[in-house]
Amino acid sequence: MTLINSVILKCPNCSHLLEAIELQSFHLFKSEVFSDGKIDSTPLIPDVSEILICTDCNTDFWREDAVCLNSDQGSDLGALPANQPSDLFLSFNCESRLSISKYYNKLLSRGFADTYEKEVYLRTLLWHELNNIIRYKAKIDDIQFHEYESLLANNLKGFISIYKPACFTEYLFLAEMHRELGEFDIAKHILEDIKLQETSKALKQILKACGKRDKRVFKINQ
Ligand SMILES: [Zn+2]
Repeated sequence: MTLINSVILKCPNCSHLLEAIELQSFHLFKSEVFSDGKIDSTPLIPDVSEILICTDCNTDFWREDAVCLNSDQGSDLGALPANQPSDLFLSFNCESRLSISKYYNKLLSRGFADTYEKEVYLRTLLWHELNNIIRYKAKIDDIQFHEYESLLANNLKGFISIYKPACFTEYLFLAEMHRELGEFDIAKHILEDIKLQETSKALKQILKACGKRDKRVFKINQ
């Protein structure tokens, strides 16, 4: 059963009341996992972003930083629906995916992510959004490809510089970041170190891609 709840939040900037959705539980029937950790599921999980944009003053803020009110008060108080980053970009072609990526990149540059957890969240969003161009085979021209590559490399370098992996899956992500940067030997070292403790299909397939010197995101064969 899917349980979606609506919550009323107070914009931290202008105090306007905003209505946002919250996911309580979700049943997945089928899911596809990609080498960068993105999971596509059937049915699609509704987009519930931790980053919201006030519909009144246009300020972006973290959901966790907003005061949450009782949801049944919302409609009486004239709450506006809060925007999520994906609401600002209506189509999902390459141009639009690059625009969302540049938006996330701008948030990072202005220090919007002020804790380790927020930076990991935002850099993961940016990583997945850029890879979506390749993942969903969007049409891309040379200029856009150059832009995609440079945004991806900058984000992955920044990500690696702060990332503190603490479990098997996080070491796998670290290796994947190096692989997508074309640093195959570093990726292999990380994978061979964790291979001693655990074996997984994802690990084997990422290792194989390193052997082929392939940098692209790919779907993990389950
Ligand atoms: Zn506001």
